[in-house]
Amino acid sequence: MSRRTLAEMDAELVDCRRCPRLVAWREQVAVEKRAAFRDETYWGRPVPGFGPPDAAMLIVGLAPAAHGGNRTGRMFTGDRSGDVLFAALHAVGLANQATAVSRDDGLALRGVRVTAPVHCAPPDNKPTPTERDTCRRWIDEELRLLAPTLRSVVVLGGFGWQALFPALADAGWAVPRPRPKFGHGAHVVLANGQGQPLDVFGCFHVSQQNTFTGRLTPAMVEAVLADAGRAAGLLG
Ligand code: SF4
Repeated sequence: MSRRTLAEMDAELVDCRRCPRLVAWREQVAVEKRAAFRDETYWGRPVPGFGPPDAAMLIVGLAPAAHGGNRTGRMFTGDRSGDVLFAALHAVGLANQATAVSRDDGLALRGVRVTAPVHCAPPDNKPTPTERDTCRRWIDEELRLLAPTLRSVVVLGGFGWQALFPALADAGWAVPRPRPKFGHGAHVVLANGQGQPLDVFGCFHVSQQNTFTGRLTPAMVEAVLADAGRAAGLLG
């Protein structure tokens, strides 16, 4: 079991080059840029999780967006998905501000960490199964380091749901077989023989595909975050 800190893990993570296709893509995007951001220096590297190392609640997405996290260097920061997520976290009292535009914008999460099972921006937001499995080492270690304080998880979308359960099992939580199915509002409590149980919640991903069509509304996101915040002991 790893004995280093999350900060030490993240310091190694940002230099990871294990997935050739994703390394090439993240760096190509960082050079070509989107016209609206042409004067910015893109991050263009793996994006680490964001939030305190003793978080009681974890939010798990899919992967950084090419012109969001891959530009700013912070998960969900600088894109439309993050606009929805951080506004909802602020609305329920788990973030000090509703917006996230850059790594130095003053945003602070209260007892919450945000991460993803794939840490580099993939083309079309679609990592391959091999890339997901290659990146698994990082979420495995992150979960082990968070385990002493972690009480709830919100998983945004089916990709994160499928990726997370094997890692939760390896980190010591009892995952039922067959594995729980993903759905918005799904809720499963995982026992842990050596520690506290973990409440896992499913939520549709905060992608534009879902939020622009009304499939996922701000109220729906806030409801899941509030449930998870209460399960984690962060909200009354
Ligand atoms: S996706 Fe994960 S494993 Fe692959 S290069 Fe990025 S950080 Fe490394």
